[in-house]
Amino acid sequence: MLGNDLRDQSVNLVTTDLITKILEILNEWGRENLRKLGWFASDPHSYEWWGGFRDPFEISVSAILVQLSKWETVSKVIIRLREGNVLNPRTLAEAPAEKIKDLIRGIGFYESKSRTLKEFSRLIVERGGWETFISRDLSDIRRDLLSVRGIGYETADTILLFAGNKLVLPVSRLASRVLSRVGFSLPRNYLKAQQILEGSISRSLSKYKLFHAALVSISKKYCRSRKPLCVECPLKTLCRFFEKEFLQSPSLLTRT
Ligand code: SF4
Repeated sequence: MLGNDLRDQSVNLVTTDLITKILEILNEWGRENLRKLGWFASDPHSYEWWGGFRDPFEISVSAILVQLSKWETVSKVIIRLREGNVLNPRTLAEAPAEKIKDLIRGIGFYESKSRTLKEFSRLIVERGGWETFISRDLSDIRRDLLSVRGIGYETADTILLFAGNKLVLPVSRLASRVLSRVGFSLPRNYLKAQQILEGSISRSLSKYKLFHAALVSISKKYCRSRKPLCVECPLKTLCRFFEKEFLQSPSLLTRT
């Protein structure tokens, strides 16, 4: 038993140490690069982290729209929704489905997302508006978000962190790919993976926001599923994949 405890402690130290090093690199890289990629790292409680937005409902709507869609398309749709004066919970909840579909056309899965937006908006209205909705117990808010068709764990937790300033770390598919290549493999089970990550990072809004924003950005920019651009990646000094795959056969990873 004692042997197992000691082994667990040393595994925890290794993972915490690796995450600390990853965070140091993300912090340095993020200072120069995040803004260019649409993340406005600023005051930990600022909403602007998320694309420079200032309204938590807009952040939530764009978090729903961005799943499997490009941020550039989402930005254009948000402008269209603003100009159409529908970007508030009551108007979206009452808008005809066809109107929402037209406004968000161009977004991947726009038909099902129009239904998600309507259900989400109705939920906020039923709870008495955004402020009342987001001021409740975390578990109640999360349960409500997950009850909306089309909102899964990752979207719910992204809304909680960036629109609600709650200490919840989203585990994105993109971030998991980077982490597993670096050498920090996470279980497939979302909640277990989240528990491990949250246990490895000190509880801080700015660290959680930085960790999510920088890993998603690095995944899109460098750590692509095929032919990752390892030579340009800021995490290569720590990365097991780079060490094993690239150094042994660099031709596998050249830019296409
Ligand atoms: S070095 Fe390569 S494999 Fe490793 S995180 Fe960067 S892009 Fe991904």
